[in-house]
Amino acid sequence: MSVHTFDELLSHTGHKIECVYYGTEHQAVNAAIECVTCGQVLIDLSPGQTMGVDDEPEKFSIGGLDVSETVYVMVKEFSRQRQKIQAVKAIREHSGLSLVESKAIVDAYWKEKGFTYENKGEV
Ligand SMILES: [Zn+2]
Repeated sequence: MSVHTFDELLSHTGHKIECVYYGTEHQAVNAAIECVTCGQVLIDLSPGQTMGVDDEPEKFSIGGLDVSETVYVMVKEFSRQRQKIQAVKAIREHSGLSLVESKAIVDAYWKEKGFTYENKGEV
């Protein structure tokens, strides 16, 4: 969901650009430079991730579904805090996937890891 070529970046010339983060007030799980005009992520990084255009892209999958590293980190971090709804919301906002798709990814992750709401009262 980010730009990879000169022409892609050039097409946002003159647009409104913003730097934002996703996550909670206390824990950002992703930071992104976005084009507000187009509603598109231009560049984004998750904690521990570095810029490297020549890097071999790592494969991340949840429940057999291929996801981006950013989505993977979002699901992992929010799920660790038992924040399932926040995880779904973050994926939707970041990746533009549908509610059903976002929920399926989070559900699959929770199933894989055996997470429940039992440890915390959050819904
Ligand atoms: Zn733009």
